[in-house]
Amino acid sequence: MDAARFEDITHEIAADATVQQLVVLEAHVRALLADRVAEALVARRTVELAEVRSCPRCGHRKVVRHGRDAAGRQRFRCLPINGNGCGRTFNALTATAFSRMRKPELWLTYAQLLADGLSLNQIVDKNIGISRLTAWRWRHRLLGALAPRRPDRLGGIVEVDETFFLRRFKGHRGWKRGNPPEDRPPRYRGSGALLPGISWQQVPVLTAVDRNGRHVDAVMERRVAHEALAILLDALEPGSLLCSDDWKAYRQVARKAQCEHRIIRPTKDDWLKKAMGHPPRTAGRIGLGRVNAHHEATKTLINRIHRGVSSHYLPAYLTLLRTKRTSRPASPKALLQRALKPA
Ligand SMILES: [Zn+2]
Repeated sequence: MDAARFEDITHEIAADATVQQLVVLEAHVRALLADRVAEALVARRTVELAEVRSCPRCGHRKVVRHGRDAAGRQRFRCLPINGNGCGRTFNALTATAFSRMRKPELWLTYAQLLADGLSLNQIVDKNIGISRLTAWRWRHRLLGALAPRRPDRLGGIVEVDETFFLRRFKGHRGWKRGNPPEDRPPRYRGSGALLPGISWQQVPVLTAVDRNGRHVDAVMERRVAHEALAILLDALEPGSLLCSDDWKAYRQVARKAQCEHRIIRPTKDDWLKKAMGHPPRTAGRIGLGRVNAHHEATKTLINRIHRGVSSHYLPAYLTLLRTKRTSRPASPKALLQRALKPA
């Protein structure tokens, strides 16, 4: 519908429609928008931009309408005045995670598939109308937008531990172009490290979990105390009880975060006790069970569902998992809303 006709109709409705008709209209509009959530979000942002008139790139307040792009979206231009303003054009998606992404009618479906934890192959099998490469690109756009503004703060009994992922360069172009990212032959999928034990071939991930299900996890460059401090120090409420193994970094963390510290030593399997029918564990005893279970679930997602991910994207996948584990997981619509916020 052209702008003039739309204006006429809006005026007519505002002047003549009864309240009852307005209510019917409201229901109609809601139903129509519900089918086109992503497009509605983009349109809402366009209307916002037209009102606020501020450049998403440089924040300059002198912005004019500047025609429409091939998809029919309103374009704007930042007007350079007295050395202020970048002079570039933009639309509602510029500077958001969806910048230059096409097919908005599929975004909601895709966000739902991602929230359901489907692998790329499973998504391609659904035949929603995007290629495998697009599916992969969209995944990383959305994952990038998921990064939490403020990490959880943990209190009470907090379990902390590290786990290790194989350092991977999955999909690195160097493998085929003859300049591999690491001085070694490419591994077969599912094969282990070439070096035994913990080595530079493993990427450490630090996780802390409290009894309310809140958790903090992050990839460490190396397993050293200052990195553990950087991840945990702001995340711990003073006065919590930090449970960990005997890595001495945790002692420092507990002291600096003003937490009590308890070192949990693994219980030895006692076959005699077991044979005599003693329960294998004491109910209520503090251990590292929660953080270990958490690591196991993480490994299942990354190594089994996603068949291993490049170490470069490991933080993004941890974020995805963190979002899914929170008590109120983000709805696909909320996911899109977050991705459409300018960075
Ligand atoms: Zn600008």
